[in-house]
Amino acid sequence: MKPYAKYIWLDGRILKWEDAKIHVLTHALHYGTSIFEGIRGYWNGDNLLVFRLEEHIDRMYRSAKILGINIPYTREEVRQAVLETIKANNFREDVYIRPVAFVASQTVTLDIRNLEVSLAVIVFPFGKYLSPNGIKATIVSWRRVHNTMLPVMAKIGGIYVNSVLALVEARSRGFDEALLMDVNGYVVEGSGENIFIVRGGRLFTPPVHESILEGITRDTVIKLSGDVGLRVEEKPITREEVYTADEVFLVGTAAEITPVVEVDGRTIGTGKPGPITTKIAELYSNVVRGKVEKYLNWITPVY
Ligand code: PMP
Repeated sequence: MKPYAKYIWLDGRILKWEDAKIHVLTHALHYGTSIFEGIRGYWNGDNLLVFRLEEHIDRMYRSAKILGINIPYTREEVRQAVLETIKANNFREDVYIRPVAFVASQTVTLDIRNLEVSLAVIVFPFGKYLSPNGIKATIVSWRRVHNTMLPVMAKIGGIYVNSVLALVEARSRGFDEALLMDVNGYVVEGSGENIFIVRGGRLFTPPVHESILEGITRDTVIKLSGDVGLRVEEKPITREEVYTADEVFLVGTAAEITPVVEVDGRTIGTGKPGPITTKIAELYSNVVRGKVEKYLNWITPVY
């Protein structure tokens, strides 16, 4: 495979891409015992701006706490590792940043309490994850795991098998993205995104509850909604409400603000990205590139 980047940060050292290797008996490979983050950095022509770095690092520590592992570095060390990895690669384009802490011990025990934890930071150039012009989605048969089974609030590697199955089901049926219902039949998320719908001029998103990741982009959209003259209402969303919405969009670090123009063969609104989605997407794009004074506190310049 062609390297995405020259250098990777692993356990305190900057290594060449091809040297950042782990053992086949690494615990996390067998049991999904890793926690991770997905962060974006935006090149604004002058500097590389990391979006909401502190919030991502905070969530990473919350994920570790929920899984019951100890990240063997301080928050400041993780922050520095992210910046150092970008600088080592001298990136001057949009990037995706993937810090991952994983149970590294070579053992098959399930008692992870005293096992070794490694941390890696991988950064690579990254463009659009889904089409900003609108995607076709389907409600898949796999349900989003419930927090009585797995702690969905945490970004734990193993939990992502749920998302993998959902996305593969959607793609193999010819759709761009999966929408997942929870065990009660409410539409809760995309495979890697939170969901918003517009109905009758009101903007809704499901509450962070039993089956939803506390998305940072979701939080950003809630905070930006006032700037486009709306207030997000948190309430459970049914399949029928999605089918009959005026606008549907998915939000996530990778997906940013992605309009959904068709769900299960039903055209959403006019079949084109709607006016509210478009306004929010434009504002989001300006905010992440450091063009909106009011939200500069969300930005960490690298250089
Ligand atoms: N839900 C799931 C299942 C996800 O994987 C992601 C991506 N991290 C999101 C929602 C959106 O979260 P964020 O905005 O923090 O990227």
